[in-house]
Amino acid sequence: MSSRRFASSKPARAAVVGAGPGGLASAMLLAASGMQVTVHERLGAVGGRTRVIENGGYRFDVGATFFLYPDILRGIFAQCGLEMDDFLTLKRVDPQYRLAFEGGPDIYATQDLDRLEREIAKIDAQDARNVRLFLERGRRKLKAFTPVLRKPFNSLSDYLAPDVLSSLRMLAPLRSVDTDMGSLFRDPRTRLAFSFQTKYLGMSPFRCPSLFTILAFLEFEYGIWHPLGGCGQLSEAMAAAARQLGAEIRLGDPVEEIVFEGRTAKGVRTADGVSQADVVVVNADFAANIPKLIPNHLRRRWSDAKIDKTKLSCSTFMLYLGIEGDYPELDHHTIFLSKDYRGNIEAIENGLRPPAEPSIYVQNPSRTDPAFGGRDGSSLYVLVPVGHCGATDWAAERQPFRDLVVQRLEQLGLTGLGARIRTEKIVTPDDWTSELAIHRGATFNLSHSLDQLLYFRPHNRFEDVDGVYLVGGGTHPGSGLPVIYDGARITSDLILRDLGLESRLTA
Ligand SMILES: Cc1cc2nc3c(=O)[nH]c(=O)nc-3n(C[C@H](O)[C@H](O)[C@H](O)COP(=O)(O)OP(=O)(O)OC[C@H]3O[C@@H](n4cnc5c(N)ncnc54)[C@H](O)[C@@H]3O)c2cc1C
Repeated sequence: MSSRRFASSKPARAAVVGAGPGGLASAMLLAASGMQVTVHERLGAVGGRTRVIENGGYRFDVGATFFLYPDILRGIFAQCGLEMDDFLTLKRVDPQYRLAFEGGPDIYATQDLDRLEREIAKIDAQDARNVRLFLERGRRKLKAFTPVLRKPFNSLSDYLAPDVLSSLRMLAPLRSVDTDMGSLFRDPRTRLAFSFQTKYLGMSPFRCPSLFTILAFLEFEYGIWHPLGGCGQLSEAMAAAARQLGAEIRLGDPVEEIVFEGRTAKGVRTADGVSQADVVVVNADFAANIPKLIPNHLRRRWSDAKIDKTKLSCSTFMLYLGIEGDYPELDHHTIFLSKDYRGNIEAIENGLRPPAEPSIYVQNPSRTDPAFGGRDGSSLYVLVPVGHCGATDWAAERQPFRDLVVQRLEQLGLTGLGARIRTEKIVTPDDWTSELAIHRGATFNLSHSLDQLLYFRPHNRFEDVDGVYLVGGGTHPGSGLPVIYDGARITSDLILRDLGLESRLTA
């Protein structure tokens, strides 16, 4: 898009479609820059996949439960002249999580490096000696990765910037995360301990580009945090901050389409009519919404046919269980890794039925946070990675798979779980599609394969029309909260630059 200098005495207007983490971060940054911002959210609450729900008096995070690298969000609040810690309370979770390998051992991830070495030594003493080297490499990698995370990649020439070229050389993008970890750790279980984090992107460590070893590094370097009240509080805090900065957030207000004059966006249409805007920022799931919001004939690169062919991340099968009493021995985060972890992942990637002995992540937040219950009753969040919609008839599999997961958790140590369930909500890939408008239930958006990263991901300044910008997991740099917040910075900077507005943000 060509730059459209904004020459009016009235403030420039932004319509934001969706109040997920990306939409809220953009709303804060644009409102703090003096723009008139209206956020239109389809649901009755903010946060999207980073939101708290209640069921029968029990509280659950819907999606995100690990908050990594809080400095990015803290920096956004600071740029807006606000203190993040005035809006929410973060608690460090350490030990961070228990990795329960089926067949043993159980190891605890922690920022206490002496202990971490002892934990890894339970698997392999030689591997334990390379833990600190992993961190040293991670520091170098993050330094190299940061310019890549902060650039928009609107054009192929962005690859030629000297800092990007040297980063890409060092990031060895063609290697997988597992291969990269193989140069440090010889036991497959140790490699998994430092590479399963690619699941946060909905990807297999055996395929995910090696630059994403950064995810495990961020955990150990900067910690894993729990916002009191749940990760949904991050979104509530951002919404409160955006409102304080002057943004309006309209809940229960789905955007039906973007209104165009020629190829230029002029506003959005909702049930109340057309709201005029100088720019439209789309935070809603890219693949599900762009075909509805922008007519196919206006799109050159991202036609319906191309969107239909994009590679998608995996999905998740969820159980939100309100249980009688609590499991005081169950850690805040536990990841049960199946003996056949690799086979599980291949089944998911190859579109096969969900595995009979799946890996399962369980969050027991009442260990850290009384908002999630105690001895009278507590909330358990259960996540099983599964393929996105297509291979499985979830209408038929929903209940049998739920029973399988509950039984498996009982075998894995949650004794008597089935009998203690008082309330439950099941979410299958079909439900992600219908309840959260996520394309084919691919909960982590477009896959983060090399051919869908950087320039090859939908651009922050949407390349097909004028005046439309993207934020959230479907655009550059990708999914995961810190990355999405960074992406909102890229998008907001582009908008301000394109409108010729001077940023009023604190540097
Ligand atoms: C199960 C699960 C676990 C996850 N765990 C983690 C984790 O532990 N840590 C982490 O960092 N990340 C995690 N993520 C990934 C990611 O950080 C979150 O999903 C994040 O919420 C995505 O943010 P987003 O900005 O892309 O917007 P979304 O959260 O997708 O929000 C988009 C918003 O747009 C709204 N919308 C859609 N269509 C319209 C429309 N037409 N009009 C108006 N509004 C519309 C939606 O209702 C929604 O509120 C997880 C995701 C899932 C699903």
